[in-house]
Amino acid sequence: MTTRPCSACLQAIGFVRTPAGRATPVNPELVRCWVTDELPALGQEVFRVTLVLTDGRILRGYRALDGAPGARQVAGYVSHFATCTDAAQFRRPTVGV
Ligand SMILES: [Zn+2]
Repeated sequence: MTTRPCSACLQAIGFVRTPAGRATPVNPELVRCWVTDELPALGQEVFRVTLVLTDGRILRGYRALDGAPGARQVAGYVSHFATCTDAAQFRRPTVGV
């Protein structure tokens, strides 16, 4: 993955092309984890997982223990919008401009 500095926070970011043809900024480290679509049982901590898969699709689920029944292992990237220290600049309102 080729990277360039984020124009807002200067961290290295890469780009993944979505099925719609848009390039979405991601942190360049590939993340591997286990996820499940099932909301964990009451009393368990819930960790939401949102990853940009290598083919550009967005995966949303819940963090699962390695090898848990019904869970699957995925690999993807964390959207840079989620970690950019200056993400507000990506979310400027466009209404009224
Ligand atoms: Zn940034």
